[in-house]
Amino acid sequence: MKKKIFIGMGIGLLVIIIGAIILFYPMARMMTQKDIVRLDQSLTLMLGGGGNSGIIIGDSAVVVIDTKMMGSSENLYEFAKEKAGQKPIIVINTHYHGDHVKGNKFFKGSRIYIGSYEKEFLQKNIDAENQPTDFVKDSLLLDLGNEKVYLYNLGQAHTFNDLVVYLSNHNVLFTGDLIFNRVNPVLKEESGARVSQWIHVLDIILSRWGYSKIVPGHGQAGDKEMVLSMRQYFIDMTSAAIDPGKENQLAEKYKEWMKLPGMSSPEKTIEYIKLHDVKK
Ligand SMILES: [Zn+2]
Repeated sequence: MKKKIFIGMGIGLLVIIIGAIILFYPMARMMTQKDIVRLDQSLTLMLGGGGNSGIIIGDSAVVVIDTKMMGSSENLYEFAKEKAGQKPIIVINTHYHGDHVKGNKFFKGSRIYIGSYEKEFLQKNIDAENQPTDFVKDSLLLDLGNEKVYLYNLGQAHTFNDLVVYLSNHNVLFTGDLIFNRVNPVLKEESGARVSQWIHVLDIILSRWGYSKIVPGHGQAGDKEMVLSMRQYFIDMTSAAIDPGKENQLAEKYKEWMKLPGMSSPEKTIEYIKLHDVKK
């Protein structure tokens, strides 16, 4: 009898472990595995290992977009340092989330740009060693000679102050977490996520720049199609927040989009929109 109970417990435990691996593996993979994509001589993407990053090699400086987290931050720093040699490195944080800023500490002495969040907000949400140094209220041009790096503050959407970065020579737009490539987005009240504003910002992204490539905050790089599908996702989820009958149909439509366990799913997005965006 005791033996049977033990076997039963053992099988139960195995099922829980396998279930946890299946559930968390895609997220763990996204956060740890890095892909280096060399687009040309002066632009390299480091995808994964936290948020996606870009390294732009200019005549006068090297620019790093987003600094990842944990071991990946150090790899990114070493890569950028080797490319920079004696040139200064300038850092841009598309937003304040840890997976995009936790490597700032490696870039001591660098200018580190971020959107114009309240100072107290940043002090509360970013460790002292990773604090940015400069704030972009509207827009800013970093002219590196051979390369022009444009920073635009698109206001509140994924967080209170999201920046996008446009490289005019390459026709590439870095969107930070304003775009998750086929991943259900994480929506947090304390970050200032607002879906209605987010749709508006995606409309700006669709109409304002003549890019041929988009580098999202997470997932592979893509093109305009990725912006359109992110926008459609929010439009669909908003319609389900108004008409609950649509929920099952949408769960089916977006079943291929990655869910982050406990953090993001179509159901969570719909709930969030009901709470914050749909007028009662
Ligand atoms: Zn984020």
